[in-house]
Amino acid sequence: MNRCLFLILFLSVSCFGEGLEEFNSFQRQLSKEYVTQKIRHFLQGSKEIENYFEIEEHALILFASPEDKKKGNAEYQLFFGEAPFFEQKKSLKTLSHAKIAIDPGHFGGKFAPLEERYVEMEHKGHLLRFDEGTLSFLTALHLKALLEGEGASVFLSRKGIGEGAFPEDFFDWLKKHPELWEKGVPLSTIFLRHYNRLDLRERARIINLYQPDLTILIHYNAIDSELPHSNQTKPTLQNFNLVFIPGSFSQGELASPEDRYHFLRLICTQDLEHSFTLAKTLVKSFTTYLNVSPLKPHPYPEYGSPLSLAEGVFSRNLCLTRLIKGPLCYGETLIQNNLQEALALSGQETTVQGIPCPQRVVEVSQAYFEAICSFFQSHGEL
Ligand SMILES: [Zn+2]
Repeated sequence: MNRCLFLILFLSVSCFGEGLEEFNSFQRQLSKEYVTQKIRHFLQGSKEIENYFEIEEHALILFASPEDKKKGNAEYQLFFGEAPFFEQKKSLKTLSHAKIAIDPGHFGGKFAPLEERYVEMEHKGHLLRFDEGTLSFLTALHLKALLEGEGASVFLSRKGIGEGAFPEDFFDWLKKHPELWEKGVPLSTIFLRHYNRLDLRERARIINLYQPDLTILIHYNAIDSELPHSNQTKPTLQNFNLVFIPGSFSQGELASPEDRYHFLRLICTQDLEHSFTLAKTLVKSFTTYLNVSPLKPHPYPEYGSPLSLAEGVFSRNLCLTRLIKGPLCYGETLIQNNLQEALALSGQETTVQGIPCPQRVVEVSQAYFEAICSFFQSHGEL
């Protein structure tokens, strides 16, 4: 890959090319109450973001900086209308006509140590070893087959184990960036700080290009897993499921034009409402099919400041929950370093498209599938 492509990639990162005027069709549509509730309930994760907006009697006003707010220099005004909520409830397609994007989290395979997403636990003289990127990919692959069986079109953001979405391999990319080879900085830090971020943005870009009706982001969870002075994973007795949806903009997260674009998109569209409906269904499905309870609704400091919306459902402003347009759910199933789960997730009792796979992963795919089916059934008649 040449320098020119990098320049293009760089430009597409810095000038994201979407303007707030895109939301002009929502002028005088949404009531002040609707917008206020939506911000308070889903979007505001910190008081600091009030430096970038003001809810006045007639409009929601956005500002490009705290200084602009002091001076009263508005960046955009969304004038309020009469509708207390969306009058035109846009019906979703049926599942057989739907386009669904699936993002299997992380890379897995040879990149698992670099991205620090693997479990290695000793149990009765055996080593249980597996990685999240492989589990998420196999889950996605099986879910894709189930959805295609119902007639849906499915797009996977990455094509294999040990692959991301960014077109250039990490080591080829690294050779071109000697400025990042600082003494004493581990390779995994360069991977996570720089390459992984490019890869996440690429996933969002190609998913948005596909224009899905729904996006599912697949992850497996782990907690308190690090043991000091060892590569091995610390086991835990805890086990739970949770789902993230967009929202909860925290300190500094309305500072860029791109941030404010997505903030306004989430206010104007029904992406959040649909995401919340699916998330609640998904959590129920995880409980039923995996026999594991959801995380109770309370602030969970490990995640920064997610807003707790319902049992197992949280708003969280992650790179991908923010950048991907349309309804989405980011699933975090099971605790991989729970011994019971580690035993199940390190198994290879079955195969998915010829690849050895734990039965537990097939159950996770089934749980996603059932929730997606009932989501489309209940929304098809709106
Ligand atoms: Zn993950």
